[in-house]
Amino acid sequence: MEKVYDLHIHYTFDIPLKDTIEIFREEFKVTNTEKYCFLSIPYKLHGESVSLEDMQNIKALCLKKAFSPNAYAFAGLEYDCEEHCLADSFLRQAKEYFSVGYDGIKMLEGYPSLLKARKISLDSKIYHKFYDFMEQNGYPIIMHMANPKENWDITTASKEAIEQGRVYDSSYPTKEEITRQVFSVMQKFPKLKLILAHFGFFSYDIEEAERFLSFSNTAFDITPGGEQFINMSKEWSKWLPFWEKHQDRIFYGTDFYAFQKDEKWEISFNRRPKFLRQLLETDQTHVYLGEEFKGVLLDEKLRDKIYRQNFLKLLGEPKRVDVDYVLQTAKRLSLKSEHKSRYAKDDIAYILETLK
Ligand SMILES: [Zn+2]
Repeated sequence: MEKVYDLHIHYTFDIPLKDTIEIFREEFKVTNTEKYCFLSIPYKLHGESVSLEDMQNIKALCLKKAFSPNAYAFAGLEYDCEEHCLADSFLRQAKEYFSVGYDGIKMLEGYPSLLKARKISLDSKIYHKFYDFMEQNGYPIIMHMANPKENWDITTASKEAIEQGRVYDSSYPTKEEITRQVFSVMQKFPKLKLILAHFGFFSYDIEEAERFLSFSNTAFDITPGGEQFINMSKEWSKWLPFWEKHQDRIFYGTDFYAFQKDEKWEISFNRRPKFLRQLLETDQTHVYLGEEFKGVLLDEKLRDKIYRQNFLKLLGEPKRVDVDYVLQTAKRLSLKSEHKSRYAKDDIAYILETLK
């Protein structure tokens, strides 16, 4: 099996860190994933309210350390003060994250429910100092922007989207509005290294996708949202020239997770990697989440870039993890009486024990 470097990996299930590391080790082996980028999502959404998941950022560095030298880590911004001081906080955080070993910032901020809950648009002044710092230093952001177009209409949303509450009525920002915000960010910070996850959910509009890549450092990852790529495969003669033209700006990514080792384990963790490989490495018909699609059998040279070379070019050598910082943070977190994540106390003990 061809080896891949995966730009888009999370660790959000309730599994102790120690077990998470062991599970990832097995999963990377089965999928022949040789390098990986752990993306932190430091908040959880419950209905309309957002709460801090205070172990997420530090876990990214622990995972990076455990899988060194093959691993990278992206931090997420923490909303740790009143709105009027967030701009300075985000700048301070970004500086701190890059000095202690993170390789980029993950922004889930463009997710419709988060935009609705926080009421801070992506092009808000609150982010300007942060974007400016990222642009000046050439540090990458991986951003989740909107969701599939179909989700804004209950009659076109998928069964899965409806079941999981990812259908958006007029109380949410529209897809057009979210897209506008991202373009407004790019107009103000045109050299920003902004990678939109899930191909920016642009499979419905090749011109929008082209417009996004008209900036010099923008890119897409191909993390499913399988519907993005099934849509494209149906019009592949239209999309192939786009993939060829932008072959240096498309990254392999899967939304890979460490899944609980129950009877569905292998199906769960391998579902998206398998889908992408069937799509890009074969010209046969397969089924993904109940939908038939035909592989597009991408040229090997293009796959080499998308699977591996672009990743290396973007991230280079992993930044060195500052172990003292990880230990200090773990000690600070150990003083808190309550944490959102179930195994926080075990994880803190594990970090203090293994990194001391
Ligand atoms: Zn993701």
